[in-house]
Amino acid sequence: MNRRRRIYEGKAKILYEGPEPGTLIQHFKDDATAFNNEKHEVVDGKGVLNNRISEFIFNHINNMGIPTHFIRRLNMREQLIHQVEIIPLEVVVRNVAAGSICKRLGLEEGTQLSRSIVEFYYKNDELGDPLVTEEHITALGWATPQELDDMMTMAIRINDFLSGLFLGVGIRLVDFKIEMGRQIEGDLMRVVLADEISPDSCRLWDTTTNDKLDKDRFRQNMGGMVEAYQEVARRLGIFIDSERPKGSGPVLVK
Ligand code: UDP
Repeated sequence: MNRRRRIYEGKAKILYEGPEPGTLIQHFKDDATAFNNEKHEVVDGKGVLNNRISEFIFNHINNMGIPTHFIRRLNMREQLIHQVEIIPLEVVVRNVAAGSICKRLGLEEGTQLSRSIVEFYYKNDELGDPLVTEEHITALGWATPQELDDMMTMAIRINDFLSGLFLGVGIRLVDFKIEMGRQIEGDLMRVVLADEISPDSCRLWDTTTNDKLDKDRFRQNMGGMVEAYQEVARRLGIFIDSERPKGSGPVLVK
């Protein structure tokens, strides 16, 4: 496995050369990081869960007709993806105030926003991923006005879909972050959803208890991170192969 050519290693994922030109293998690590890498731990099983949850969500998004980089899951930790040129922006959609918007604007965590807000952050670790406006993005050439338009439309459709998906399993989608890339297809270049969507990149609160089922458990030293991610997977109906059904009753052997 390690003889494959490594193209890129990020905080939570590694990209390897894929089996065919134009493809890559996205490998999910167990590493958890926060506060621009100041806090770092290995959380056993996180990579497996994020691989499965992200596969589930990307399959649904592909089926909605929104193009994504996802081709198929290969194994417990890896998926085959299309190679894309990542647009250096993080797109955040917020439905409820939490995290950085509370600090920046003095809002109370949990405040319902009267409508969803789309924000853009410039992906640059040295600068701490600063919030930027559409003017910055087009003037500095990070994306064209057409690409920005596509990104905004996709982000809003994904928010509508994910909000409903999670609400159906008793989870409030507070906010999430997505990344997009440019995919070349013949003479055409189109914007596609890339990276991952998982409890690492979303805020997910139980609708009745407000329990946090996401990476804030790690950021805020609450413990129970893997259990929370397992709960998200379980509610979405994702069965992780290595898990045995809980309980002491008889187990159906197929
Ligand atoms: N987020 C992310 N990666 C980042 C920054 C944010 O996945 O580098 C996600 C985060 O998990 C949350 C949403 O984007 O679901 C909004 O994050 P926020 O701007 O509130 O920043 P944070 O509180 O994480 O600093």
